Amino acid sequence: MSGCTEVVLPITSFKCSVCHSAKVDLTHFATTNCGLAVHPDYVAAVLAEQQDNFPDGKVRVSAASSCPRSAAIMRDEPVTVDPLAFNAMLTGTGWHTLMAAHATDPALCEIEVSGIIDGISMCGHIDRLLRHESGLVIADWKHANDFSRKYLKDVAKPEHIVQTSLYAELYAQQHGERPTRGVNWYHFTSSPPFAPMWYDLWPVAKCLDHKPYECEFTVRQILHQAADFAVGKVKWTDLPLVGASFQFSGKSACDYCAAFDACQTQATGAPF
Ligand SMILES: [Zn+2]
Repeated sequence: MSGCTEVVLPITSFKCSVCHSAKVDLTHFATTNCGLAVHPDYVAAVLAEQQDNFPDGKVRVSAASSCPRSAAIMRDEPVTVDPLAFNAMLTGTGWHTLMAAHATDPALCEIEVSGIIDGISMCGHIDRLLRHESGLVIADWKHANDFSRKYLKDVAKPEHIVQTSLYAELYAQQHGERPTRGVNWYHFTSSPPFAPMWYDLWPVAKCLDHKPYECEFTVRQILHQAADFAVGKVKWTDLPLVGASFQFSGKSACDYCAAFDACQTQATGAPF
């Protein structure tokens, strides 16, 4: 039913910022003095927490606002990354794990959902459902670094609303009850820890028409690109550079992408 918890290891080698090596093997930090500067258990966690972007040929809900070409490369190509770049992801995972371990209602916590949206087989993972006086609410943790606090607006990001709204659709398909409200719990390590943003969930059609991060593609287009790859209809090299048009205050998704070198080399003949 879930299909969303499978873990694979697309990372095949590391860059090491300690010995300045462009490519070292996965045991590097556990077996060399570079492990004195980069904790080997942290590196093991980076590898263990990777997820299959297309479990059982399904498209993850999180793909709605991410680059399908990047996700496809991360499945099919050997990828070399700096493990230090995963600190935010691991800190968020650690926070999720702690909160889930102490959920006051475990039955409403960590719920795997799957179903069909716009003809696409999709799956996702709901952090938490809340029984609220307004009905069923989808709650999602967003761990944020303290620097980003000053950019926080008083409304949730539309990309995050799309995510929870698509979860609601999958949940309704499986359970017959439709969550109507969403809340993103933005969490910071400094005080105050929480900035919860409540909102009405969007209809599926509004989600599909949204253009994430002001890019040129709609969620519908992005999901179909991901689905075509997931079912083997196209190769990653056939997919457009969707992330290049994501607007992140002067930068694009490519500036943060672990698949950048492979992507650019194929697109332009050189890794820049
Ligand atoms: Zn090293």
